[in-house]
Amino acid sequence: MTSLLLRDVEVGGRRADVRLAGGTVREVGGKLRADPREEVVDGRGGALIPGLHDHHIHLMATAAAERSVRLGPPEVSTPRELAEALRRADAALPPGSWLRGVGYHESVAGDLDREALDALLPGRPVRVQHRSGAQWSLNGAACRAVGLDGGPLPEGAETDAAGRATGRLFRADAWLRERLPPQPPPDLAGLGRRLARAGVTGVTDATPVERVEDLRLLAEAGLPQRLVLTGGPALASANFPEGVGRGPVKLVVADHELPSLDALAAAIEAAHLASRPVAVHCVSLVALVLALAAWEQAGVRPGDRIEHGSVVPAGLIPVLAERRLTVVTQPGFIAERGDRYLLDVPPEDHGDLYRCASLLAGGVPVAGSTDAPYSAPDPWRAVRAATDRRTASGRVLGAGERLPADRALDLFLTPLDSPGGKPRSVRPGVPADLVLLAAPLEEVLASPSADAVTLTFFAGAPFPR
Ligand SMILES: [Zn+2]
Repeated sequence: MTSLLLRDVEVGGRRADVRLAGGTVREVGGKLRADPREEVVDGRGGALIPGLHDHHIHLMATAAAERSVRLGPPEVSTPRELAEALRRADAALPPGSWLRGVGYHESVAGDLDREALDALLPGRPVRVQHRSGAQWSLNGAACRAVGLDGGPLPEGAETDAAGRATGRLFRADAWLRERLPPQPPPDLAGLGRRLARAGVTGVTDATPVERVEDLRLLAEAGLPQRLVLTGGPALASANFPEGVGRGPVKLVVADHELPSLDALAAAIEAAHLASRPVAVHCVSLVALVLALAAWEQAGVRPGDRIEHGSVVPAGLIPVLAERRLTVVTQPGFIAERGDRYLLDVPPEDHGDLYRCASLLAGGVPVAGSTDAPYSAPDPWRAVRAATDRRTASGRVLGAGERLPADRALDLFLTPLDSPGGKPRSVRPGVPADLVLLAAPLEEVLASPSADAVTLTFFAGAPFPR
């Protein structure tokens, strides 16, 4: 059996040697004797911690975003910057091919429709995704290419007074995908390597896909990470591909199109009947209240979770705690979007945004995630944001929600099958999904960064090698 000896690492605050064998942590001790046949890695006193888990990410969209142009804050904030970014992207693409923009927000240049886009770039099909992920804006060439002019309009296609498509599509991704020219598949394996370099050894893909085929694409993409997949209600009782975890059923409570209480409760019941918990997307108070009412009707199953929990009034914290609902939060949004929240959200509600410390203090299990591509797929940036709650401009949002850095890291160390549960630790018998850091933990956490990751181990094997 191959084994590997890590010399002089910091485990739980103490210097130790650690032996990995058979995919697990075999021994943790003072001075372990090296077997002549085993590989020895000198840890130089750096911390050895469990691999990080991103409890809510969209793998396909994150990989695809790497081939898209960013058209929203902080990179693009003004109409001029938008025109510039489109012009540069246009110049880099072959004639006639599609241009895909992501991360748009109306604070840049108002609501984008076909006319606004045609004024900027009429010469090739252009599609721009709103940073919520729920909306695409298409220019005229793109509208014609997918058949929005003349053909039957899909649900979610906005029209003007004359009945013509405005180029704005809401939650019509499946319809759109079928009409786009074939694209080279997103580089999922490359994303897996990038996540590994940041110390991520496990992820939950929270995309409400509707086809088993979409689960299979992820399962077979060659990612080194452990995968838990969700899928939408259509896949509640589907067989999942081998080698991946069957996570909760993802239910989206969309603010622009709220489901009825009965429909939401029925979807929760259906998931529970299929022996699965639910992960309910709630980014507003209305959505949260509706979801809680639906849970009241359908009952709560262990593992049921609230995705985002963007707005939680203090009065609802005991309700969440009592029902044992986990909140899967994204502290990174404070850093990346906090300045926008400070402008858009009334000051009296600022304290309700992306709560962390108050949820934990109130007994609500909390897990960490990035929701990439909607924030950077870097949990260390999220750890930093959970610690300092600073926006891009340096203002503090929700000072009372700050966590000590080690507690912030813990949000990403909870098990994939129990987000918000007991953080994992390095001890004999646990899977050797580990991260070796360049310095002791306290030093790394003084300024959290993925740069501190020296080596990531998957089942005892160092990566990259
Ligand atoms: Zn998401």
